[in-house]
Amino acid sequence: MDITEAVNTKSSQEPIFRIRWQGQIESIHCRAWVWRYKMDNRTHHHLGFNLFLKGDADGQAGRFIVAISDTQHTKLKFRIGDVFKGTAWPCVKAKHDIADYYRAGAFKAMIRADEQTAPEGPPFTGLLPPTEVFERRGARMLDLKLWRKQCSTCMWANRSAVEIEYKFGKVKRYRKETFCYGPRSCTLYDVGPPREVPYFDSYPSTDEGWMDELCTQQRGDED
Ligand code: SF4
Repeated sequence: MDITEAVNTKSSQEPIFRIRWQGQIESIHCRAWVWRYKMDNRTHHHLGFNLFLKGDADGQAGRFIVAISDTQHTKLKFRIGDVFKGTAWPCVKAKHDIADYYRAGAFKAMIRADEQTAPEGPPFTGLLPPTEVFERRGARMLDLKLWRKQCSTCMWANRSAVEIEYKFGKVKRYRKETFCYGPRSCTLYDVGPPREVPYFDSYPSTDEGWMDELCTQQRGDED
């Protein structure tokens, strides 16, 4: 293990180490978390981007996710096919992240992918715009199977950490959900099954997608 720094966590007292990673980018999605409360409260918070990599992290070969900031993406313009190396910290208690590692730094490009014109989608594989564009566009729920397969390389696909206000101000629950920020006319799109939002003293509310209309009403079908 390539250890460069260590701290102690309060819960386990197990040390957490900053690790080194290296890998090829297989996809890049926006990094967000979602707050849900009963049926009609769904707020998306945008934090930056997630790099989905295949390579080596902390001495282990495989696939892993590294969270990066908007500023880092603006500076380095990450693309699918790039090979980068850097450092990061394990997301041990990061409830608002789906990544394996965050607080990334010391980036070094090993190989840059060709800056060729992205093929027409879907899926859309161009350079991702800043997070403010995702905020402005808003998201619709996306079927998990699509996110895993046909949409996996799409710049508009997203998997977010979700915080559910289970007992308001007292108990929260956490899970992950998949979303799409892409054009409402995308032929690949499917909303997937309804999503239950539990509350401690009542039947779960069900989000069947009607919140998607609210979240994306500011843009047209082709946008
Ligand atoms: S459904 Fe959304 S994520 Fe999937 S290809 Fe279309 S725009 Fe991209």
